[in-house]
Amino acid sequence: MKLPKIRELIEAIKALIVGPYTSKFPFKPHEPYPSFRGQPVYNPDKCVGCLACEEVCPADAIGHEDITDSLNPKRKIIHYTDTCIFCGCCEAACIADNEGIKLSNEFDLAFFDRKTAEESIEKDLQLCEICGAVIACKDHLKWIAEKIGELTYSNPTLYQSRLKSLGIIDENITSVLKDHGRSDRVKILCARCRRETTLTTV
Ligand code: SF4
Ligand code: SF4
Repeated sequence: MKLPKIRELIEAIKALIVGPYTSKFPFKPHEPYPSFRGQPVYNPDKCVGCLACEEVCPADAIGHEDITDSLNPKRKIIHYTDTCIFCGCCEAACIADNEGIKLSNEFDLAFFDRKTAEESIEKDLQLCEICGAVIACKDHLKWIAEKIGELTYSNPTLYQSRLKSLGIIDENITSVLKDHGRSDRVKILCARCRRETTLTTV
């Protein structure tokens, strides 16, 4: 017969006195350790909608959908909790001082319906004023304008975005003129329309 080792005996006696290491979850709430790496969570007030987190995610656990309704264009950023591996690459790459998305200590992610295993936020989108193509999220344009400072005023798209964010011009103002001419040069435009208006007004 194989006799138990001394260390195993000590462990068994300790367990009788101290009790088991495991908690009684789910009957009692479990408190994870502070450094536990759980589900990442978006902060819609900090996130600028740049999609850097989607680019770097190694598990394809982040996606997005652009809703290009001209009256209320939105970008929906979706985190799929069932494929996330909690690696933290999204938080590390976040341009909003790593605060747009952050790992939490949330671990209780069981679900019955896979369709519910996702969380999303929505950000306002900026469309090209001529062709309606997606340019970027409005908060992302403001973020770029703040980063580059006075250089903003050399780019009409950023300049107009800045004026709108400062409340100097109406957020929803658009020109009715669509002639790819001189009047279009001061609009918020995608790269293609910017090139066309520049070439036609040289
Ligand atoms: S923690 Fe890793 S796997 Fe999960 S969403 Fe972020 S980058 Fe993707
Ligand atoms: S700001 Fe951060 S959280 Fe938001 S889309 Fe960009 S990288 Fe992702």
